[in-house]
Amino acid sequence: RAKENGRNGYRFFEAAMDEAQNDRRRLELELREAVHANAFEVHYQPQIDVTTGRATGYEALVRWRHPVRGLVSPAAFIPLAEETGLIVNLGAFVLEHACREAGTWPSELRVAVNISPVQLRRSGLVERVRDVLEASGLAPERLEIEVTESVLMDDDDAIATLHSLQGLGVRVALDDFGTGYSSLGYLRRFPFDRIKIDRAFVSGRADAHATIILRTIVDLGRRLGIPVTAEGVETPAELELVRRIGCSEAQGYLVGRPSPHPQPVRPDLLARVPA
Ligand code: C2E
Ligand code: MG
Ligand code: MG
Ligand code: MG
Repeated sequence: RAKENGRNGYRFFEAAMDEAQNDRRRLELELREAVHANAFEVHYQPQIDVTTGRATGYEALVRWRHPVRGLVSPAAFIPLAEETGLIVNLGAFVLEHACREAGTWPSELRVAVNISPVQLRRSGLVERVRDVLEASGLAPERLEIEVTESVLMDDDDAIATLHSLQGLGVRVALDDFGTGYSSLGYLRRFPFDRIKIDRAFVSGRADAHATIILRTIVDLGRRLGIPVTAEGVETPAELELVRRIGCSEAQGYLVGRPSPHPQPVRPDLLARVPA
């Protein structure tokens, strides 16, 4: 009897596995069609200088306009897009959209674009970026590429590509800092133009430990001469904290949510921050 149950249990497990595989296959098929049909939108989230409260730029964040599920968040499809290679075309679309859009903004505003390790490993990224900049007329200094440290893991080619991007005049930011493995080693291996501290150290009731880590990262950035952006600033108290400890810039729901058309930052933002 125990054996029978065991077997049923196994069948059940197999059925669940099949279902998961089917889900994945369906998602992949839908994603493939979506890339083909260009069913994506790019939203823009503001970043501010914490001393002036003024916008310094916007981060481009992709969304999938799904016929049934509505607007799907990138967390739900970027990993699959990376596994299947679809990220290459999707990423090219985001890059073009972002540069074209930013070309219409006041010239002091940058645009930040997330680049996946898969895109970075493909040859031709540097040429593509150069072509897109040329076509859009955007000054290279106004484009900031965001990469996570996983990109650099034992990959000299990736580092060479980032150097070439900097050679074009494009800025390179280290995204989600503090969540990966040996972050400090990466700061030695590549001269990043910016560090973005992951919101895990910023949002919510960040505890004493998170605050100490936050301070240490900002201090590290200052010593290295690299400006630090705090991600996930959701409350006036969080904005006050990141300003007080010396972050240069802030991004988060308090400053502004991602939106299809970049929204101006409210001029009284800093006035609401406790002194
Ligand atoms: P990320 O690059 O770290 O982008 C910041 C994420 O945090 C965005 O999520 C943004 O909406 C969210 N966020 C911003 N402020 C706050 C806040 O105050 N509180 C909270 N809870 N969240 C906040 P989103 O748009 O869902 O994107 C998730 C991730 O997907 C991005 O993280 C990035 O790694 C990836 N991603 C998005 N667009 C692209 C893209 O075009 N290409 C690639 N390769 N990855 C992308
Ligand atoms: Mg990012
Ligand atoms: Mg991030
Ligand atoms: Mg991220």
